[in-house]
Amino acid sequence: MPKNNTFVQKLLSRMDRVDKETLKNYVVDLAAENARYHEVLDTLQEGVILTDARGQIEWVNAQAAAWLDLKWRKEQPVAIGSLIEDPQLALFLKDALPDLTERRVEDIPVLNPREIHLRVFLIPFEAGAKKHVCILLVNRTEERSFEINLDRLSRIESLVRLAAGVAHEIGNPLNALGIHLQLLKKELKELPAAKRKALEKSLSAMTSETERLDQIVKNFLSAARKPPLRFRMENLNTILEDAIHFVGPEMKRARVKIDFRPDKKLPPFLVDRNRLYQTFINLMKNAKEAMPKGGTLGIAVAQKAKIASIRFQDQGIGIEEEDLPHIFDAYFTTKEGGAGLGLMTVYNTVSEHGGRIDVASKKGRGTTFTMLLPIREPKLQLPKYDMADKK
Ligand code: ADP
Ligand code: MG
Repeated sequence: MPKNNTFVQKLLSRMDRVDKETLKNYVVDLAAENARYHEVLDTLQEGVILTDARGQIEWVNAQAAAWLDLKWRKEQPVAIGSLIEDPQLALFLKDALPDLTERRVEDIPVLNPREIHLRVFLIPFEAGAKKHVCILLVNRTEERSFEINLDRLSRIESLVRLAAGVAHEIGNPLNALGIHLQLLKKELKELPAAKRKALEKSLSAMTSETERLDQIVKNFLSAARKPPLRFRMENLNTILEDAIHFVGPEMKRARVKIDFRPDKKLPPFLVDRNRLYQTFINLMKNAKEAMPKGGTLGIAVAQKAKIASIRFQDQGIGIEEEDLPHIFDAYFTTKEGGAGLGLMTVYNTVSEHGGRIDVASKKGRGTTFTMLLPIREPKLQLPKYDMADKK
């Protein structure tokens, strides 16, 4: 017999000997205890629904009622299946609840009105010799979007690796082509002028196309090549300063003024300097290209708790809303002669630092990229270094 029943059991066995007042007190105590359990259930972040073996609702906590928009009143017994609007969840419960003997788990996306990803546990249990089911709902929306991102990243990575192999193979025949084109050019000089003219035109087209192809392959390989990251304690302000200095002359020519606001209080932390340097240059060049008539590019560093943020805010042409989901994709470009690899590199570098990059843009007004980097310190890594030293 379950332990929590012994009290009730004792009471029942002595029913005829218990006076009215004592009985009333017992019942009041029991009711208070019951209410306390329900209050506790209501404070949970998980959704909890209790039903009997046939799926009649016995209790719904606040979170479950909010997620599933359940309007339930204790006085009106009703089957859970008939209250749930989401078709996938309703179907799962209808299918699983009758005669449930073992735990069941299922991940189900539910609209409320935005999509939330619920992990639904069905847990059968017995109480007072009656069968019940606890339906436990856990919100996995955040984990889920993290998983999707990871999945996306690994798919991109394997594709890039595959393509890098192909690009590398293309390099050799391309070289040979270039050499033979040069030879042809020399030979052409021997031909009579009339014939030479037409041929020279084709030859120069072939040469420039081959060079273009060569450039595409080189760009791709330099974006795809990924030596392992080298994390060092670096000052983010200094890396930015160096990158700004490097693009200085180019920005001046394009009449782009850089308004740089470092965060002097930001401590050094673990980053790959070269990768970040390249990333900053990519973002600055994009901003410059978005402001053909010149303008101001604001760059501001800030720290919030254990996260450093770097904001790049331009006054450029902005990004079409329909383009926004694609700008980090390899080869996405809206520019004539653009390679479409800059932002992909930025995205990868930021991800590899455990960070994130967000973009906000308004057509004709400008674009803001905000990079968030976790402030990592070497303390966390010490045990690892120790082991490496002893080897
Ligand atoms: P590319 O510069 O070679 O086109 P990127 O990967 O650097 O490739 O950028 C991809 C696309 O994202 C650009 O072609 C452009 O449409 C858009 N973009 C990037 N940065 C900006 C910006 N600061 N302002 C407006 N559009 C931008
Ligand atoms: Mg670019």
